[in-house]
Amino acid sequence: MLYIYITIILQIRLLKRGKLYNMVVVNKIIHSQIFSFFSEESMENYAAIGIDAGGTNIKAGLVDAQGNLLSVQVVPTRKEQGSEQVLALIGEMIASLCASSARKVLGVSVALPGGVDDQAGKCLYCPNLGWKELPVREILTALTGLSVRLVNDANAACLGEYFYGKGRQARAFLSITLGTGIGSALVLQNQLYTGPFGAGVEAGHMVVEPAGALCNCGRRGCWETIVSASGIVRRAKEKMHKELSAKEVFQLAREGDPQAQAIVEETIFYLAIGLANLINLFSPEEIRIGGGVAQAEELFSKELYARVEENVYPTLKGKVKIEQSSLGYYSGIIGASTLWFHDINII
Ligand SMILES: [Zn+2]
Repeated sequence: MLYIYITIILQIRLLKRGKLYNMVVVNKIIHSQIFSFFSEESMENYAAIGIDAGGTNIKAGLVDAQGNLLSVQVVPTRKEQGSEQVLALIGEMIASLCASSARKVLGVSVALPGGVDDQAGKCLYCPNLGWKELPVREILTALTGLSVRLVNDANAACLGEYFYGKGRQARAFLSITLGTGIGSALVLQNQLYTGPFGAGVEAGHMVVEPAGALCNCGRRGCWETIVSASGIVRRAKEKMHKELSAKEVFQLAREGDPQAQAIVEETIFYLAIGLANLINLFSPEEIRIGGGVAQAEELFSKELYARVEENVYPTLKGKVKIEQSSLGYYSGIIGASTLWFHDINII
C-alpha cells in the first residue's frame, strides 16, 4: 500500500510539472503494485477481454490468465457502416461478454490490422477498416467504462503464440501470419520488439524477387506478393487463368492438378527463402507460422525444411525450430489479452 501511496503522490507532482511521459512510467508502477495483490490471491476471479477487429469479422473473447477462452463471439465487421457503428458493435460485444461471466474484467485489448499508438489510445492507420487517427480507447472506454489497450494484430498473434502456445522458452521468437498479406512480429528476451518508430518487423515487405509483382507498399517482389493468400490468388490467375482462392489452389494440387502443384511448390520455395533470410537476420530459436494459408499442411514439407537449411548461415544450420502455429483461429483474441496479464506479471 505504501508503494501505491508514494507513486500517487509522485504522479500528482509530475502532473503539476507537466511531465506526461514520466506519468506513464509512474502509471505502470502503480499498475504493477496494484495488481501484485491479484497475484497473491487467486486469478480465478479475473479475466481480460481480447478483441480481434479484422476487415471481415470481429472476434471477441473472455480470456483467463492461463490463456483459456471462456466465451467467444464472432460477428461480421460491416465496416461500410463507419467507425462509430463498428465501435458501438464492439462495445455491445464487450458488455455481453462481461454479462456472461461473474469474473472481474481487468481490461480490454483491441488488436487492429494496422498501425496503433497504445500510449495515446489511437488507431493511427488501418486501411482494411478505413480508420485513420481514431481515438479508439476514448470511445470504447466511454461506451464500456473499462480500460482499453491497443495492439497491432500481428503483434497480438505473436504474443499469444509466445505466452500460451509453444514458443515460451525461446529467447528470440518470431511469428509469421500468412493471411491476405503477411504479418510478422518478434519477441526478444520476453518483450515484443516494436522498434523506435513502432513499426516492429515488417517481414512481408522483404524483397525476395526484385523483378516481381508490384506490392501495395510500392516496391516489387515483396515476400507478401508471392507467399500470402493474395499472392497465391494472383499467381493462379496468371498461370491457370482462373479466379481461385488460395484454399482452392491447395485442394487442386492435392487432387493432382500439375499447374496447382507448381504454384504450391513455388510457394514453398519462396517461403523457405524468406524464412532463411529472417533466420540469418534474427537467429530466432523458434518460428511459428499461422494464418489461413498456414492451415495447408503441405507447406510444412521436407522440401521446406531442406531449402531453409540450404540457405541459412552455416553456424545456424539445424538450430531453428519452424512449426505451424498452435493457437489457430482465435490467436488474435488470446494474444491481445496477454497485454493485461503480462503487465501485472501473471505471465
Ligand atoms: Zn511490399
